[in-house]
Amino acid sequence: MAKENKAFVKEITPQSEDFSRWYLDVIQKADLMDYSPVRGCIVFKPDAYEMWEACQRELDKEFKRTGHRNAYFPLFIPESFFQKEKEHVEGFNPELPWVTEAGGDKLEERLAIRPTSETMIGHMYAQWIQSYRDLPLLLNQWANVVRWEKRTLPFLRTSEFLWQEGHTAHASEEEARQETMQMLDIYTKFVEEFLAVPVIRGQKTPSEKFAGAVDTYSIEAMMKDGKALQAGTSHFLGQNFAKGFDIQYLDKDNQLKYVYTTSWGISTRLLGALIMVHGDDRGLVLPPKVAPTQVVIIPIGPQKARAAVVEAADSLFAQLRDAGIRVRMDARDDVSPGWKFNEYEMRGIPVRLEIGPRDLENRQVVLVRRDTGEKTFVPLDELNTALPKLLDDIQVNMFETAKKFREEHSYVANTLDELVGYINDQRGFVLAGWCGSAECEKAVKDACSATSRNIPFEAPAQPAHCVNCQQPAKHAVWFAKSY
Ligand code: AMP
Repeated sequence: MAKENKAFVKEITPQSEDFSRWYLDVIQKADLMDYSPVRGCIVFKPDAYEMWEACQRELDKEFKRTGHRNAYFPLFIPESFFQKEKEHVEGFNPELPWVTEAGGDKLEERLAIRPTSETMIGHMYAQWIQSYRDLPLLLNQWANVVRWEKRTLPFLRTSEFLWQEGHTAHASEEEARQETMQMLDIYTKFVEEFLAVPVIRGQKTPSEKFAGAVDTYSIEAMMKDGKALQAGTSHFLGQNFAKGFDIQYLDKDNQLKYVYTTSWGISTRLLGALIMVHGDDRGLVLPPKVAPTQVVIIPIGPQKARAAVVEAADSLFAQLRDAGIRVRMDARDDVSPGWKFNEYEMRGIPVRLEIGPRDLENRQVVLVRRDTGEKTFVPLDELNTALPKLLDDIQVNMFETAKKFREEHSYVANTLDELVGYINDQRGFVLAGWCGSAECEKAVKDACSATSRNIPFEAPAQPAHCVNCQQPAKHAVWFAKSY
């Protein structure tokens, strides 16, 4: 581990100077994570872990509302399972860690540490699904997975990460396709409304789809450096895994049929997304819905008036806590208010509530929002309505700001030169026509390291020709450099 990772970050590198450095500075200074002694594996500290818990709660509610149930499958997967779906094994083999020895003995069959659980779950589904009455089977698992990534970056791409993986089996293709779309819709709503991160929905090109899927759909978000991040995926697996694992059921017509399966997942990568989408040079900016602390109360004023101010602040704290707001109080008198303001701004707390002797006299408080820096005076007896409204306003404003940023950094290119120019000079997403060939997709990557993000469901333009070969375009595709 690099020594510098351990050093306390005094200043945050400005985004315009070095965005990656800014990111690494912020996540450490805000105490979200630490590096671990194991390559590519990080420690999620309480503020980050609480954000993940908030994501879990919100999504889990939606999964259950749509009929899914949680289960848990083993961490270890026998090697032979990976041989059953050819594309799957080819895709995941380079990233698999293996257990070859346990309890002092060499194992007869190596066990992979799961990178994803289609194989284990396929094996179990084959035993559980006998008849059309057993369908649909709608399960989800919250778990850790391991992919031995070559390049890692805290939260965004780690060797071990936390995620949920949904796995469903259906009698018909149509129903499985509907499920794939339903889950993409749930992810979209969650990422846009809960994390205030706007996304582009679409289908992955064949070269970017999940190993073993028929079709992969994704939501893609733009970070503040113009790079893309795949924020969630939903896969229609067709009968690929059903055939590999022999998942058959007896239908109403007494025929044995293969099921259709889907899988879908989001991971702790989303924490990286919300940091990179909303953060600024002063630090984190957290959307109120996911922020571990929504409001921090800071009593201010001279020492002689302190007791009365702190007493009022204490009662405000209890009042807000009882109103269901995640509130924190900082009445320490060994650090200055200015220091505290900087500290909580850096930690991204959506609202700062200041109260001093003059506010007490006027029966008011000062609210300062983190997203815009705007200051308002609110009468004490209006606080319980004003504060939730302010938190809602911040949430909406953060989404709108991020969306505007994305729109301002999105371009349409008709030629490869234009595309390369936008990618290298403007940084952002470039929409271009594509003939559908893997060669033309690769030509873009070779020219500027941008990859196809997805074929959007709704494109702002439909270029007539392929950006590379100038043959008629089959699709409009978003290209971008990505994490
Ligand atoms: P996949 O199973 O490849 O479709 O990935 C499911 C979800 O996990 C997607 O949202 C990915 O972006 C995310 N993901 C994939 N690899 C990693 C990783 N190494 N670290 C964090 N998240 C990941």
